[in-house]
Formats: sequence, structure tokens, C-alpha cells
Amino acid sequence: MIDTHAHYTDSRFREDIADILSRIDSSDEIEYVIEASTSIEDSINAIELAKNNKKLFALVGIHPSDADEIKVGWEDELRSLAGYDKVVGIGEIGLDYYYDDVDRDIQKDVLKKQLSIAAELELPVVIHDREAHKDVIDICLESGVRGVFHCYSGSIESAKQLMSKGDWYFSFNGVVTFKNASKVREVVEFIPLDRLLIETDCPYLTPVPYRGKRNDSFLMRETFKAIAEIKGISFEELERITRQNTLRLFTRMETF
Ligand SMILES: [Zn+2]
Repeated sequence: MIDTHAHYTDSRFREDIADILSRIDSSDEIEYVIEASTSIEDSINAIELAKNNKKLFALVGIHPSDADEIKVGWEDELRSLAGYDKVVGIGEIGLDYYYDDVDRDIQKDVLKKQLSIAAELELPVVIHDREAHKDVIDICLESGVRGVFHCYSGSIESAKQLMSKGDWYFSFNGVVTFKNASKVREVVEFIPLDRLLIETDCPYLTPVPYRGKRNDSFLMRETFKAIAEIKGISFEELERITRQNTLRLFTRMETF
């Protein structure tokens, strides 16, 4: 299994991160983990984690909720961080109208600037879209970059639009196991197998039956089981297909 979106720099892992990373390292189940970043500082930490752990890769980027804390020169800094070993994309970036704690124009500006850095460096992006579907889709399609909508919560119609006008993937996590998530399961059923990625978003969104516990990459097998069942294929087949998709999107993974 490949976990395409994790946050091991989160403070909830502070006490036992060394133990978790060594278990990932010796695991037969987990092949790779992609660590997503939320700020410049977090990107530096993600690169450090990836440098010291052979199964880990890093994304660098500024989350919309951190878009009002950027400092002068952040674009050059991001551009240079993106050139480090084991950095495979720009993320997570996007718009968040759910918390709405950062001015929407600032969020859009920081998203657009990061998309243009991704275009310039020919890197894929990882998109965070919470209750901002239309604006995110318009801005992403206009940018011409390729990438993945992580924790995809949009409609089947929006997914069709993204696939017909661009090179976009859709990633799902523990939410598919939640009782009240029948809409997400319908979307999973629709998404073509060659556009599907799987993630944890740990420490958040722990799958059933572990809800309430902190999430980690090992619990991702519950998500794989649920999605394999929705798609009517075996666990192994789903592993093989999502592995191919991940390597096709994050092309740098095979170069490190
Ligand atoms: Zn995330």
C-alpha cells in the first residue's frame, strides 16, 4: 500500500514518531508514504523526515489556512525547497471556505502563485478543497497543471469536468468507511480505476472500526478493503492499480 497523504510532522505524533517510522520502514504492507506540508516551516520538516526515511517522500506547500502567515520572499523559498531530494510535488494547497478564517482573496492569491510555481517546475499538485469546489476547480483548470484532489469531497459532475479538461486524480481515505458517507462511496464507485489514489490524511480521519483513535498508515488497510469492495476487485488488484496511478502522477518518485 502507498499512503499518498500523511502528516507525520503533526504534534500528535511527537512522542512516538521514531517508533512509527521504524515500523513503516520494516513493514511489508507499506511501500511508500507521501508527507504533505502546510507551511514553509512544515515543508522543511517534511523534507527532513523524507531524507531520513527511505520509504518517505515529501510535498512542499502552503495550506489555505496558513495563507495569511506567509512572509516576504516565500515564493523563492518554496521554489528552492521544491528542488530538494525526495520532494515529489507541491501540496497541500487549495481553498478552505469551511473554517473561513483566512480572507478568500488571500487564499486564492496564494493558491494561484503556488500553481504557477508547480507549472514552472513541472511538478504535480495536491489540492485541499473544503466547501470551495467551484473556485478551486476554475483556478486549477485555468493553471494547466496536473494533480490530485486529496480527500475528494466534490460531486461526480465536478470529477467529470476535471478529467475532461485536465489531468486530475482523486484521493480517498477513512471517510469511505464512515456510516454517514454514502455520497462519498457513490463518488468512489464512479471514479475510473486509473484515476484513484488512496491516503490516510493521518492523524485525522481514522477509518472504522478505529474511529476516535489517532490515524496512521497501518490503518489504511481498512480503507483499501472498503474501496476494493465498492469497486468489486480484490485488495491486491486495488493495491497494484493505485500504486501505478501514484507513480504515474508523482513521476519524481522513481528517480530518488
Ligand atoms: Zn492533509
